[in-house]
Amino acid sequence: MTPIESAPINGPSTPGQASLYQQLRGHLATLKLHDAAEHLPAVLDAAHTEGLSLTAALERLLAIEVDATEARRLAGRLRFASLPTPATLADFDYDAAPGVDRHLIDELATGRYLESATNILLIGPPGVGKTHLAVGLARAAAQAGYRTYFTTAADLAAIEGRWATTMRFFAGPTCLVIDELGYLPLPAEAASALFQVVSQRYLKTSIILTSNRGVGSWGEVLGDTTVAAALLDRLLHRSVVLNLDGDSYRLRAHHARGEALRAATTGTRQPLR
Ligand code: ADP
Ligand code: MG
Repeated sequence: MTPIESAPINGPSTPGQASLYQQLRGHLATLKLHDAAEHLPAVLDAAHTEGLSLTAALERLLAIEVDATEARRLAGRLRFASLPTPATLADFDYDAAPGVDRHLIDELATGRYLESATNILLIGPPGVGKTHLAVGLARAAAQAGYRTYFTTAADLAAIEGRWATTMRFFAGPTCLVIDELGYLPLPAEAASALFQVVSQRYLKTSIILTSNRGVGSWGEVLGDTTVAAALLDRLLHRSVVLNLDGDSYRLRAHHARGEALRAATTGTRQPLR
């Protein structure tokens, strides 16, 4: 195999090599392979010093472009996803959430459930980590390459007019989070918007839904038991339901601070919970 000329280190030994090098950079620029173009000198140097084969050098150059492209796509998916917090599954504390099965979350983190349009319901009182898990799962979905979008029931409820375009939008993402159903009772029009979103995604794409109300009181939340029953039929048909209960994580931190403060001021030592 002919050794690859390395313009940068050794300098092009002939004018022909210099113009070949310029042509190659020109090709990369024309093809918009900017990261490959930028790393061309370094790869050519490496090819020379490490004695890489032509195949190995080309692979190394294009791998740089592929990695950069994938990083850009991931950044784009994450931007589109509009996640409200930096929460990740990695920083979820399972010891603080005894009801949550780590193995189940690990399985869900692979995104395989999205292939069967399975929904995830996270039910529990305020502060137990529902939104944290929903954001973490959504982030994992985006990282696994799925189109992901985060919204809240209140945002859905605020949509007025432009139903056709809006409904088309909510049909798009493979993974759609609808956070905080039940904090506010939904007006009839909003309940019907939610029902339509669930219906059009049914058996096609997944929803991750969080609620502080057990499904038994969704009739109240949606202001209509028939709509609630029809919605739950579709949502639960293929679903994973996680019931989170136990102490609020927010209050837990608050209590711990309070106890630490008391211990510090009274001299008694109390175990932090
Ligand atoms: P919910 O949506 O159930 O009301 P959040 O997910 O918003 O609760 O949790 C409240 C706060 O506590 C957030 O900052 C969240 O990151 C944190 N939190 C809750 N549970 C956990 C946990 N098990 N591990 C780490 N952080 C948690
Ligand atoms: Mg929440």
